[in-house]
Amino acid sequence: MANSPVRESTRGGNHPEHPVKVDVRNLRLWYGDTQALFDVNVNVHDRQVTALIGPSGCGKSSFLRCLNRMNDLVPNVRIEGAVELDGEDIYDPSVDVVQLRSHVGMVFQKPNPFPKSIYENIAYAPRLHGIATSRSELDDLVESSLRRAGLWNEVADRLQTPGTALSGGQQQRLCIARAIAVSPEVILMDEPASALDPLATATIEELIDELKDNFTIVIVTHNLQQAARVAGYTAFFHMGRLVEFNDTDTLFTNPREQKTEDYITGRYG
Ligand code: ADP
Repeated sequence: MANSPVRESTRGGNHPEHPVKVDVRNLRLWYGDTQALFDVNVNVHDRQVTALIGPSGCGKSSFLRCLNRMNDLVPNVRIEGAVELDGEDIYDPSVDVVQLRSHVGMVFQKPNPFPKSIYENIAYAPRLHGIATSRSELDDLVESSLRRAGLWNEVADRLQTPGTALSGGQQQRLCIARAIAVSPEVILMDEPASALDPLATATIEELIDELKDNFTIVIVTHNLQQAARVAGYTAFFHMGRLVEFNDTDTLFTNPREQKTEDYITGRYG
């Protein structure tokens, strides 16, 4: 059953035009005694959007958080298997987790700007990492990050006001700008639009589409239409297992597995 044809077919690896950025092999995760991920194999392709879909509790966020070791912060978590970023094992003991997270940034479900000015939200991490130090370097980086997040025109005249005073959709774009500011290669997004209204959601989806030219994006979404709209690749999880991984068109129009078909046609979940 678990033999190579199925295993290989779930990896979505046969797309040489999109090199592999993150190679996940046999990933298993336990919270205490409870196993939440079972032998997950995924190739995340460079400068593509990969969507993680599946019913609530199937392990999407747990998987996502393995890609920048956010699960390290959870007590009693145990992780086995390999996660390689550009061929380097991110779980190697020599890896500096703070550095790793500057390469693999994260945007959360609920916009979480720091309780600081818009300017400081962006400038904080680059200053910390020594990416920009002088005032003019920081000014440039703040502007370019806000531009890339599609927020500059809305906030250019009030950079010193608190980030928390923005609308929900603007706050989420601020968080994306903050993630971009340290020039990550990969951006993880955990249901980034689920707390937003339809208009703000559409803006975030357009932004994701633009960002994929420069960043590898992995996005958890419970919204199948959103996955179909934004993602080149989609991974379907069920009860901690990766059921199917393929390019999004194939997964939605011609799924290989009955479970996938049942899910995308709304029979459960
Ligand atoms: P999804 O993102 O698909 O909703 P999760 O990855 O959040 O799924 O959860 C997968 C399983 O792991 C669920 O059974 C959930 O209750 C459990 N889980 C998630 N986070 C933790 C945690 N910090 N401690 C213990 N169990 C957890």
